[in-house]
Amino acid sequence: MKRRNFIFDIFSVGLMSSLSTKLKAKNFNFIPKVRSISTWKTKEANHRAGLMLDKGIDGLTAAVAGVAVEEENPKNSTVGYGGAPDRTGKVTLDACVMNHLGDCGSVLAVENIVNVASLARDVMEKTPHVMLAGKGAENFAISEGYKETNLLTEKSKEDWKKWLESEKYRPIINIENHDTIGMLCLDKNNNISGACTTSGLAYKMRGRVGDSPIIGSGLFIDNNVGGAVATGLGEEVLKTVGSFLVVELMRQGRSPQEACEAAIKRIVSSNTQENKFQVAYIAMNKNGDVGSYSIEPGFTYMDYFRGQNKEKITESVF
Ligand code: ASP
Repeated sequence: MKRRNFIFDIFSVGLMSSLSTKLKAKNFNFIPKVRSISTWKTKEANHRAGLMLDKGIDGLTAAVAGVAVEEENPKNSTVGYGGAPDRTGKVTLDACVMNHLGDCGSVLAVENIVNVASLARDVMEKTPHVMLAGKGAENFAISEGYKETNLLTEKSKEDWKKWLESEKYRPIINIENHDTIGMLCLDKNNNISGACTTSGLAYKMRGRVGDSPIIGSGLFIDNNVGGAVATGLGEEVLKTVGSFLVVELMRQGRSPQEACEAAIKRIVSSNTQENKFQVAYIAMNKNGDVGSYSIEPGFTYMDYFRGQNKEKITESVF
């Protein structure tokens, strides 16, 4: 976005909120723009968040409740319950949240707990820390009343056993095997919050952590500018602190679409991987404009806007 447009947009947001106050005072039914976007085909999750935003619920609560749909879905093999395990057969989850105040919380390599985005929120709100890892995070969850659950389903156990026979302990790095959910929610107070939650790469090394729980890589929000989330090969997102980069590019005046494209091209231009891999970003600015871009084709995201929840196809480098 050009600087002039950006300044105009900031001006128009200011004008809208003063108009909104005046209309409210005159008892008009002014409906502010609310919007929720989420990575991949996470239809039900995004719908849940969108409906909550329409009811006036804050962006962080909506995002955490939205992503919980996928955390609890045994059919999603890259998030929460039913997520693919590491190479030793243990399911370990990563998640983070960030709100409009710039507060954030994150949990890494957590076992036996389903709703890790909610746990990340609890780390943010109930501890003096930002990140908790492993057993410490699990113990904290139990002390907060979370139920212990075996995250390995019969199906994911079977798939892992099959992989053991043929894959010689390489993690699966390809363009299809990603369903990590990252979600951005713009609420009625024009505040943006977000959440990101994953079981990470299928059959990763024990202890591997990707981009998803790392503030600035998997997710970043600056409520003066907008927010971004990432999905795909975490190692490549980490190297460019991807979500932070997208938000900083928007701060410099780019639209969400332009910012996602520039951040993806940064990865591609410095790529040293021999194999094909996927990374995708989605972003939203304070005005409620959205954008997305990916390296490989096939990435889609959900967009809840004005009561409609639509799947959108993203353009890609290749
Ligand atoms: N970004 C996640 C990770 O690297 C994986 C994914 O999005 O599928 O852990």
